[in-house]
Amino acid sequence: MKLDLSFLLDKENETTDVSVSCDISSVKIGGNEYKKSGDEAFTLTFYNDESKKLYVSGSTKMSFLSPCDRCLEEVEVSVPIKISEEFDISDDTISCDEEEGVICIEENFLDVDCLVVNEILVNWPAKVLCKEDCKGICPVCGKNRNLEECDCDTFVMDPRMQQFQDVFKDFKEV
Ligand SMILES: [Zn+2]
Ligand SMILES: [Zn+2]
Repeated sequence: MKLDLSFLLDKENETTDVSVSCDISSVKIGGNEYKKSGDEAFTLTFYNDESKKLYVSGSTKMSFLSPCDRCLEEVEVSVPIKISEEFDISDDTISCDEEEGVICIEENFLDVDCLVVNEILVNWPAKVLCKEDCKGICPVCGKNRNLEECDCDTFVMDPRMQQFQDVFKDFKEV
């Protein structure tokens, strides 16, 4: 949602809570798109500091569906969102320091989705697993090894050995 913050300009040295929501239905990370599976309305707290700075803070969480990195089963990932930003106020205009990165405010309208998505990108887990000891997919037969045992020889060849084998193969072809 976009939130008109103009009304905060008169509230010098005041704290104001505003109930907000985030309208995204999915998030794109590293070329993959993850569907949102849950969220909750939350509150952003604004503080107008002598009409020079506007501080905004708030926290919530949001969940998304992602395949497990090992077995590809769908997992719900809960991502913590903690917003803490400051904007500059001058001549009745609220703006953000462009050096700080992403601009989520334009003509005194705050783009709440933009703030939230930034937090999701920062807090997205490095590894998504259905469970700590997920056994993953057998690289030989493709079975989900959490569901079924297989007798495949999953000895992973050292890449240097692989290279040697390729050379040997070429040699045979001559
Ligand atoms: Zn898994
Ligand atoms: Zn197998």
